Amino acid sequence: MPAFKTLDDLTDIAGKRILVRVDLNVPVTDGKVSDTTRIERVAPTILELSEKGAKVILLAHFGRPKGEPVADQSLSLIAPSVEEVLDQRVAFASDCIGAPAADAIAAMNDGDILLLENTRFHKGEEKNEAGFVAELAKNGDIYVNDAFSAAHRAHASTEGIAHHLPAYAGRTMQAELEALEKGLGQPTRPVVAIVGGAKVSTKIDLLSNLVTKVDALVIGGGMANTFIAAQGINVGKSLCEHDLAETALAIMETAKTAGCAIVLPVDGVVAREFKANAANETVDVTAIPADAMMLDVGPKSIELVNDWIGKAATLVWNGPLGAFEITPFDKATVSAALHAAEQTKAGKLVSVAGGGDTVSALNHAGVADDFSYVSTAGGAFLEWMEGKELPGVAVLTKG
Ligand code: AMP
Repeated sequence: MPAFKTLDDLTDIAGKRILVRVDLNVPVTDGKVSDTTRIERVAPTILELSEKGAKVILLAHFGRPKGEPVADQSLSLIAPSVEEVLDQRVAFASDCIGAPAADAIAAMNDGDILLLENTRFHKGEEKNEAGFVAELAKNGDIYVNDAFSAAHRAHASTEGIAHHLPAYAGRTMQAELEALEKGLGQPTRPVVAIVGGAKVSTKIDLLSNLVTKVDALVIGGGMANTFIAAQGINVGKSLCEHDLAETALAIMETAKTAGCAIVLPVDGVVAREFKANAANETVDVTAIPADAMMLDVGPKSIELVNDWIGKAATLVWNGPLGAFEITPFDKATVSAALHAAEQTKAGKLVSVAGGGDTVSALNHAGVADDFSYVSTAGGAFLEWMEGKELPGVAVLTKG
């Protein structure tokens, strides 16, 4: 990955207007922010810039308002939580461009923090429209992007604007990029990837990329059934995409050519119902009863997975090994998570995990803080695992 500029390269910023793209797309229940993790993640960048005397102007989107103002997707609803997390006054402007933004910025003192209204209230945001980009850029002297989670989109506030202003990575973006570099960019070998979750169809690009980069790919979860079935084994009523048999075989072939070991479950925990504490039994994958479904990988497979984690210097993980939301089918995911956490704490493993359910699974195992890095970025993390260039990152690393 080419070098990118960070806040360490920003000197003499007192009085400068710094437009900071942050992720404030937080969950809201009954009009209240129910999880402030994303706000906490961007707080260090905001506070550092404010302490250095910059005028900190926050740009963010919230929800999917489709280019028009929508009352319940106004960032004014989030502003109080931002104030609370930062423990600083945060002013609010009712538009991210035009007079409301200009007037609020003119009223700022050095070190002040201002939140501009949802960028997606304008059609130009998602279209990365030149006129809108210029309007946004007019409000700042410097641009800082701290929203890795939005970096897979070439929008005005994530990509376009960086062509107009000197652009820097914020602290969270920096930490994410450095962790990802250690995960797949320049990893210490051997590198093992664990990919689980429901379906192969949502992760074809990801699997195809990983087999060319890692030394071993452990496949678990529902998607393992598709690989097992592709080899002519009957998987009963297990979740399985039979139409993707050829895709699965092609991925295995690519892996073979690239020298990547594919590790599939050898046994599984099967049940007749998809519900907590459903009656279950452990069988070899070659003996799945016709009326049963595999909901977790079995003890022999857990041992295999943990052996691979033990051999790895770097681990990249997306997706649970089983239906971890319902006991006892969380066993394999929890066991592998605990083992990876132990290895990481012992300094033997760099562990990078992310993507939707993976974060909940690691939280469920109680080890999210023990991994080297857990990305909450979702789509952007998956696109990175797919080996795609993220426009919001590319623009920080070019020129
Ligand atoms: P994904 O979003 O693709 O990472 O999939 C996560 C979902 O896969 C979770 O909700 C799990 O319950 C589900 N899952 C994992 N293993 C299985 C399995 N063997 N059968 C059915 N669903 C599974």
